[in-house]
Parts: sequence; C-alpha cells; structure tokens
Amino acid sequence: MSRKTILITGGAGYIGSSTAYFLKQEGFEPIILDNFSTSHRPKNFLFSTYEVDLTKYEELSSIFTKLPKIYAVFHFAAKALVPESTEKAWDYFHNNINATLNIAECAKDFSVPYFIHSSTCAVYGTPKTIPIKETSLLLPETPYGQSKLASENVLQQYSKWKNLRVLNLRYFNPAGAFPNSGLGELHQPETHLIPNLVISLIQNIPFKIFGNDYSTPDGTCIRDFIHIRDLAKAHLLALNYLEKQPQVTCETLNIGRGKGISVHEVIQVAEKILRVKAKIEFHPRRPGDPSELVADTSEMKSKFLWTPQFSLENMIEDHWNFIQGRLS
Ligand code: UDP
Repeated sequence: MSRKTILITGGAGYIGSSTAYFLKQEGFEPIILDNFSTSHRPKNFLFSTYEVDLTKYEELSSIFTKLPKIYAVFHFAAKALVPESTEKAWDYFHNNINATLNIAECAKDFSVPYFIHSSTCAVYGTPKTIPIKETSLLLPETPYGQSKLASENVLQQYSKWKNLRVLNLRYFNPAGAFPNSGLGELHQPETHLIPNLVISLIQNIPFKIFGNDYSTPDGTCIRDFIHIRDLAKAHLLALNYLEKQPQVTCETLNIGRGKGISVHEVIQVAEKILRVKAKIEFHPRRPGDPSELVADTSEMKSKFLWTPQFSLENMIEDHWNFIQGRLS
C-alpha cells in the first residue's frame, strides 16, 4: 500500500519537524511547506520540502497543483513568539491569519479530507479557573493568542460552509526532543524556559526568572509541560479521531499533561539532571505572561483514549542531549 501523504506547513520549525519525523516513522509520507523565516533547513532533512510564502494564495495553490493527493494538512506555520508579538502585532495578524485563510482555501479547493491546526493555550488569556477547560472564556491578551483564536474561527467557518473537517489542538508548553533525531527546539531569539535554562546551566551563565511575585506558592509562574514526543503522537491521534468519527466537523482540544509545574520547580529538576547549580537572576514580569496555565485534559483523554507518557525529566534530558549534539 502506498504511504499517505501529510502536508506539514511550518515543517522546518520545532514542532512541525518533530511531528514530520514521527509521522515518517509511523509510515506516512510528510511533505513540508515552510518560508524559513524563523527556521533553517535542518541538516539531513529527509522530507520533500517546498519554500513558500503561505500569505500568498497564488504561490501556495501553484504548489498544490504539483503535489500528490494530500491525505491531511497539519498546519503549524505561524509566528509564535509571545513577547515578540506584543511589539509586532500587525506582523502576527497578517502572517498567522492570512496563512490560515490560504491553506484552508487550498485544502478545500484540492479536497483534502482532514485538517489539524496547531493552536495554543494563549487563546485563554488569564484564566479565571484552573485547570482550563476548552469551554473556558477565550480572552487572549497578546497578538499571538488573538491571531491563533482568529485562525480557529476561520477554520470553524471552513468546516461549517466548505466541508473541511478540522481539529484544533490547543498546546500547552511543549519541550524536549526526539532522541537521536537531530531535531529540537532552537529559536533565534530563544524565549522559552527549558531551552534558556539548559543553555545557562551548560554555559554557567545567569538564568533570568521573569517575575517571582506571582500569586503562586513559590511566586513563579506555573505551566503545563508536555513532551514533544507526546505532542507529535497527539497529532496522529487527532487524525485517527477524525477518521473514526465521521460526524465530527470541527472540534477543539487541549493538549497538555494536566500537571502544573512552577519555574522554580523546573529549575530544581534541571539542576538535578545536569548536576549544576543555576545562577539565578530575578527580572520583572514579561508582558502577557499569565501566572498559571494548566490544561484540563479530560476531553483529550476520553476522545483519544490516551494519556501522555513522558515526564518533565524526559523533556529536560532529551533537550539537553539535543543541545549537546548541536554544540559538539
Ligand atoms: N521564563 C523565565 N525565563 C526564561 C524563559 C521563560 O522565567 O528565560 C518563564 C516565563 O516568564 C513563563 C514561563 O517561564 O512564566 C514559561 O515561559 P515560556 O516562554 O517557556 O512559555 P509560555 O508559557 O510563555 O508560552
């Protein structure tokens, strides 16, 4: 039987490339679309790859005409740095919303049966209650979160009027790497907690904690970390769910572990794994950082009949190994 082709937008980025790697192992044929604006073509990249600006419909649709039949689109491509989005709001709206409109239009024009969209817990803003359910109030506080909520709304309309079948996955905090894949989290500039922490421990340079006066037990923010291996698997389970449930047109699920861990606790775990003491510096809060983001994962667990497998220790260790591979 021939392999099913999955079109992966943003497939050169951290989550997209890791998911492509996983799908290949699972017997699919990933094809990557990327504009390489925030990523580079990874070394030994094994997938067929097209450079394209998703905000240009004609460019995108001319690529679709050259592709084999697409079984599903996994739409990762987006500008996704929360702090940057507060300074470059227009770029975030223009890029993220237009890319979603165009890829949805092409998916409809070329009769792609399934569409999985990477959304984010940033759509909730500062939640009133924890854990956060999918039905919680949607009040994103940053242009990034607002652009992703707008993208969800675009896809909801496509499912309603244009027969696109959509699952929105609202990720909490992905981290870690597929061991020995050569793929992992490496942004420029890097803003995320685990990559910044690991590099500061390796290089013995200060690690900045942004805010230690939050109303949490130790004063630092609480997040729900999920291993990239679990997150990649969740995408396949999302596809399987749409395949098995033909009545589903558009649904939205939280993807996390449902476990809240503070910045201080992450530092303690990393210190133990790397066997180095962190040099901590306290800095003011970052704009748009809610004190606590933890998923209610009951919908995900009951719909996918699945629970994430990997721990915070796994995430830190796998990220550390990935970085050592890049530094050597
Ligand atoms: N954080 C930090 N130092 C860093 C990076 C992040 O203290 O170098 C904090 C950040 O303020 C937030 C948490 O770690 O409270 C998670 O931030 P991250 O950017 O990893 O994910 P976000 O939840 O913002 O998407």
